[in-house]
Amino acid sequence: MNNFYPEQYAKTGQYPINHNYLPSQFADYENIWRKVKQVVIDGDFTLGQAVDKFEADFSALNHGRFGVGVGSGTDALFLSLKALGIGDGDEVITTPFTFFATIGAIVTAGAKPVFVDIGDDHNINAELIEAAITPRTKAIMPVHWAGIPCDMDKIQTIATQYNLVIVADACHAILSRYQGQGMAQVCDVACFSMHPLKNLNVWGDGGVIVTNNEQLAQKLYSMRNHGLINRDYCQEWAYNSRLDTIQAVVAQHLLDNKIEHISQKRIENAGLFDQLLSEIPQIVLPPRDSSKIGVYHLYMAIFEQRDALQIFLNQKGVDAKVHYPVPMHLQPAAKSLGHQVGDFPTAEFLANNCLSLPVHEFITRDEIYYMVECIQEFYSK
Ligand SMILES: *Cc1c(COP(=O)(O)O)cnc(C)c1O
Repeated sequence: MNNFYPEQYAKTGQYPINHNYLPSQFADYENIWRKVKQVVIDGDFTLGQAVDKFEADFSALNHGRFGVGVGSGTDALFLSLKALGIGDGDEVITTPFTFFATIGAIVTAGAKPVFVDIGDDHNINAELIEAAITPRTKAIMPVHWAGIPCDMDKIQTIATQYNLVIVADACHAILSRYQGQGMAQVCDVACFSMHPLKNLNVWGDGGVIVTNNEQLAQKLYSMRNHGLINRDYCQEWAYNSRLDTIQAVVAQHLLDNKIEHISQKRIENAGLFDQLLSEIPQIVLPPRDSSKIGVYHLYMAIFEQRDALQIFLNQKGVDAKVHYPVPMHLQPAAKSLGHQVGDFPTAEFLANNCLSLPVHEFITRDEIYYMVECIQEFYSK
């Protein structure tokens, strides 16, 4: 592996390896375009057959009976809480190491987020959940960070014991498996995002709620569509958050042609990173659990001298990023919760020391060797 530098780097001194790959992802956009054209010809712009089919196929892939297409991953989380009657005065236990939308959904639903620190695997530490339960706790919202499933056995045991629902933030976890089970099987509701930066990316925003609870699904089909039960009657005042028909067409194309490949390539790339990076003493990889299949929405680890390494890698053309530098309990928006530095030390340590390397399906083995070579060069200086 010594002195492995691709030719392009030798010529320009720069070898851009980016997190963003959307132009490659949609290089065959003409094929999708043709399908979108049909939507226009049919005049079928809201819900309709394209959404029905996508919901059925997407939910099956994640081992759920019902799929509800909504406007975004954030709406999926928010509407699920609303449909479960979780709001004012209720508490939802979740992780401080997540994207803003997890907490935004809890708070805009009217509930209070109660944080529990993470473990070495970057996910909520199930051992700490019980201590955070109060009489007001209604739900647990585990986040399958980077697409690696949380410890769902333990979380399900606690949920059953305390009569709590599990609303999972599975926005990173399309096609992930926990002991062979899809993400919809190990919770009450699993919420997915199809934002352009997620593993299955549409041409704007889109989200899906997947559940095995028929009654809940029926409520959600209605709630995302004004609370209607038919054209003339409204069951309850609700929202307009339908999955756009055009986005369902784009998503169906990826589902039919690419999602298996996308997941496999990410898993393969992460495996090679694991193998190469585990030999560098300045790096701490999260422990890997063979009973879980993570789809590596992100490839994250703890790196010594993170900030300097990030600058070094960026100069080498490697788009290393921090997801994310400030945990949720220390955000300005969380001020009223009264947290301070030190409240969730593992999450804070990760936020201060983590770095993500591009791992998507267009990253080649050569590019992985190059990134690792750059990291070795940095630590040998
Ligand atoms: C992206 C993301 C969301 C929100 O999804 P949107 O579709 O962008 O609304 C929620 N939770 C996590 C962990 C995410 O990464």
